[in-house]
Amino acid sequence: MRVKILYCLLIGLLASACQEKEKLIGDTLISNINIVDVKTGKILPTQDILIDGDHIASIRPSNTANYAKQSHIDGEGKYIIPGLWDMHAHPDDPEVWRMNPKEEEKERLLPLFVVNGVTGIRDMGGDLNLVKRWQSKYANGELLVPKIFAGGPLLDGPNPMWDGSVGIAGPEQVKYVVDSLIHEGVDFLKVYSLLPRETYLELSRYAQEIDFPFVGHVPFTVLPSEAAATGMKSQEHLLEILKECADKPDEQFLKKLGSIENRIERSNKINDFRLKTFDGFKADSLYSIFKEQGIWHCPTLSMWYKNAWYEQEWGRDLELTELLPPYLQAYWTPEHNDHLQFRDNTDFIKTKQRLYQLYQEMVKNMNDKGVLLLAGTDVGANPLCHPGVGVHNELEALVEAGLTPAEALKTATLNPALFFEITEEYGTVSEGKRADLVLLEGNPLEDINAIRSISNVIRDGRVFDSEKIFEIKKSIQKINTGS
Ligand SMILES: [Zn+2]
Repeated sequence: MRVKILYCLLIGLLASACQEKEKLIGDTLISNINIVDVKTGKILPTQDILIDGDHIASIRPSNTANYAKQSHIDGEGKYIIPGLWDMHAHPDDPEVWRMNPKEEEKERLLPLFVVNGVTGIRDMGGDLNLVKRWQSKYANGELLVPKIFAGGPLLDGPNPMWDGSVGIAGPEQVKYVVDSLIHEGVDFLKVYSLLPRETYLELSRYAQEIDFPFVGHVPFTVLPSEAAATGMKSQEHLLEILKECADKPDEQFLKKLGSIENRIERSNKINDFRLKTFDGFKADSLYSIFKEQGIWHCPTLSMWYKNAWYEQEWGRDLELTELLPPYLQAYWTPEHNDHLQFRDNTDFIKTKQRLYQLYQEMVKNMNDKGVLLLAGTDVGANPLCHPGVGVHNELEALVEAGLTPAEALKTATLNPALFFEITEEYGTVSEGKRADLVLLEGNPLEDINAIRSISNVIRDGRVFDSEKIFEIKKSIQKINTGS
């Protein structure tokens, strides 16, 4: 009996040794790599990934196939994640047009996303035709650009807050504006803070009628719960949540507020009141509404952080800021920047910092309640929200707020793909999907800061190794500093 078992084992071993290994053909082989499964938050160790053209041709456990390939990356000890997304970006922020940036200067921001592992962005307001020019330059191999979904101009009230917005005069104009933008090719609509209530309501009604997504700032005249009920697909920056969840100021308070002449003092007082009366129970039921309605939230925590601690962060970011075109470097200083007013008012700064702490709590509680979150940076006019690196900062901020590294990573990988309904091609490292990938020296599930340890970026199958990445950054810096 024992002899028979041994005999069978021997035959089995011989058969597997003689079995011809599968031969796979492609352009680039990444061998022995650890795949970060962003869906489960687990590591799939020692895999071979073969890229062919702009797609992942195969994923096999290492040493189970032979490969005919052009190039090889040794992935031993490294980790691979899907390309990151910045879900709130303004590479051409209309707010900065007052600095008269040239088109070739703006262009230099685009590669900085990609070399920092950000292979996709949601352009939340800017010149749609410029985006189209970037995309065709990318198609012709003239410019390194992330994949872009764009909303075109901001849709604001009759007197818009910023240049380049469409100021909608009233509800009767909504259909014309929306139809023209869709005709021009926007991927979604972005609504803004000064939209009058009736215009907003008509816009949401019409967008739902024609089943076209709209996202953006919850207007001042609308509550987040109402925006959710009227189908706003994503809400940005946690706007107006504080207002909905705090007490309504009474007559007496409003009278007192009205007697204060200084605008900043008034704003400090109202924020103070809201911070004091913020009701966690109200907030929880609001988050349940978001969850039930499937409303996405893009909190842009890192933007709030950089603003609240601007002085300290400016010094920290000096090296990064040098990579930027001069018009943006200048705009990120209090001399020019609308978001950096009143830095000498310590109460104002302190309130911003207290608000940030509340935003952290909100994000943690939203996540616990199952609200869908997106990583966004607000790169553009907002100071120190860097192209590319901003996403690393946002993921770090989400973890500091209390998300696990796996949960944070999802907000910049799988969630954007779910949001845009493109999971067939994006969102995970899987066979058949687009080869937009990032290789890291460390495991981001253990320490989210490993996201900064990029060794390679792959965009549509094209590989950028650390040498090439360094070269691209250097050449951008050289042009921007004129040296
Ligand atoms: Zn924005």
